Amino acid sequence: MTELLFHEDAYARNCAARVVAMTDDGLVVDRSVFYPRGGGQPGDTGWITREDGTRVAVADTFRDRETGRLVHRLEDDAPVPAIGEPLHLEIDWERRYRLMRLHSAMHMMCAIIPEPVTGGNIRDNGSARLEFDLPEPPDKAALEARLNELTHQDIPMRALWITDAELDARPELVRTLSVQPPRGAGRIRLVEFEGVDIQPCGGTHVANAREIGDIRIDSIKKKGRLNRRITLSLV
Ligand SMILES: [Zn+2]
Repeated sequence: MTELLFHEDAYARNCAARVVAMTDDGLVVDRSVFYPRGGGQPGDTGWITREDGTRVAVADTFRDRETGRLVHRLEDDAPVPAIGEPLHLEIDWERRYRLMRLHSAMHMMCAIIPEPVTGGNIRDNGSARLEFDLPEPPDKAALEARLNELTHQDIPMRALWITDAELDARPELVRTLSVQPPRGAGRIRLVEFEGVDIQPCGGTHVANAREIGDIRIDSIKKKGRLNRRITLSLV
């Protein structure tokens, strides 16, 4: 299995790695800074550099559904690296940092709206949407003001691991109805913005809420009887 460096350090932009396999879908390596799409966050893009200096773009990163392996999809017609070959991996940091800020902003929204989350995703264009079961729509201006209070505050993030049994004992931690945290691996990753929000999450986040900065609420739309879709953007 690939060592997932982004779990320990979301700020790691590059790493050395070796080729473990080339599948029809892409490249598998022994360790990686590339986040695979999941939990509403897009997969990382970036580059790999071979020993001879050849640079190949990584178009997407995902987990293989059957094997669970982390796969880096290379651009079309890229030369195929050999098993065991040393590589240098580098993510598109500007894009990833934007995704980290947006993802963390969604945690702040969860802190403000203590209702079940029914869906959500982050887009490449610097916006994200989050859906809640809410009978009445929140006031847009008040929500935006409260959100920006949090995204400029000194609120450190920490990640910790708990067991499946510990999560079962604290069902209130699970905010997302549509996506249950993965079980069976024995442990689940909890992400906590100190004193504000705590929930199972495998994504990448900023180390402190104040890194999120200015956020705009673009729209609040009704999607079904209870469902409200809130779209937000980095300013
Ligand atoms: Zn998260």
